[in-house]
Amino acid sequence: MGYSNGVGLIMTPGPTMVRENVRLARACDETNPDLDPRFFEFYRETCDKLARILRTDNEVRILSGEGILGLEAACASLCEPGDRVLVLENGIFGEGFADFVRMYGGEAVFFHGDPRRGLDVEELKQFLALDSDFKFATLVHCDTPTGVLNDIAALCPVLRERGILTVVDSVSSMAGHVIETDTWRVDILLGGSQKAFSAPPGLTFLSISDDAFRGMRERKTPIASYYANLALWEDYDMKKWFPYTMPVSDIRGLSVAADNILADNILAEENIFVRHARMGGAVREAVTRAGLRLYLEKDFSDTVTVIEAPAGVEVEAVRQRMLEDYGVMIAGSFGFLADKVFRIAHMGESARPQVMRVTLNAFQKALEGCGDVCQGEGVNPGDLVEGFDQAWERGGAKGL
Ligand SMILES: *Cc1c(COP(=O)(O)O)cnc(C)c1O
Repeated sequence: MGYSNGVGLIMTPGPTMVRENVRLARACDETNPDLDPRFFEFYRETCDKLARILRTDNEVRILSGEGILGLEAACASLCEPGDRVLVLENGIFGEGFADFVRMYGGEAVFFHGDPRRGLDVEELKQFLALDSDFKFATLVHCDTPTGVLNDIAALCPVLRERGILTVVDSVSSMAGHVIETDTWRVDILLGGSQKAFSAPPGLTFLSISDDAFRGMRERKTPIASYYANLALWEDYDMKKWFPYTMPVSDIRGLSVAADNILADNILAEENIFVRHARMGGAVREAVTRAGLRLYLEKDFSDTVTVIEAPAGVEVEAVRQRMLEDYGVMIAGSFGFLADKVFRIAHMGESARPQVMRVTLNAFQKALEGCGDVCQGEGVNPGDLVEGFDQAWERGGAKGL
């Protein structure tokens, strides 16, 4: 490894490490993407690759802008003044959707869940039996600050049965978890380049159903945005026209990152999703065996593990020690979890046993530096790497 900024391993839940072939692809020759017919081909091929990964026949579009643009674009394009929108939330990104809904004139109605577990499908059914007059609903697959994984396979069909369009933020889960976009009835699925896709930040992409495009066409008022207007993209292909100039290098990198994911899927005996499941399980087991506590009760994403800081242990101090002494960067969290938890990502390029061993070794050493405090809590960080190795090997034996 060895990055020019002195960081050896980036183990944060986005941005993630970028493989050399992705970085090299970004150094290719430039073109004028508005005038070069080959670029249109290349853009469409890249969208097709994303569609394969996301298991969808819906239209896929890549937009220039970080993942947040995907959230805003979905809300800007669907939401009209006065529309009621159901905001399902059990975490910070889930709740944040309400801001975008309001910004575009909608009325955000919350369906709240417990932040320590996934949203409850039965509770949602009961809620909808009383009130289901919503144009669309927003959900988050993996709410990254806690790492909770919501069961969108069960939740989205329940919403669609009531005629509610579904908008899912899967920025931090896609390519780490299987997503059956069409089978699960996700109208707009949105992601970003800098998480499990392991490409640099800068792109968001969305799959958009016919029903979602129809929803945009049937609006009574115009979409109150240009950059976040998805309707402009509906027939870009026929018109051979992009709403704005596409970032050629970013998309070249994303295309190779998608190839990496598809190759991982096809060639390896354990495909990319199995690798993430095995990794998530092994990290959680290692952490609990060392006496540390996971933040969640259940419904863990296999792309990130969120660990409570033992009483008296300062998250920032441990993080800094790992970075300065070992060149390993992990994350804290924010919002109601600020200074309370550590987040270790295992998404895309960071979901590999070699780098996880180095990471857990650094975490172990940094926690041991907090000696007395940890022991009082029954924490024995000395078990971390060994616990991981054993759990990882066992996961392989189980075919996981
Ligand atoms: C990373 C992420 C985004 C993109 O937001 P940034 O915080 O700007 O990186 C959106 N949604 C989720 C769930 C994410 O994890």
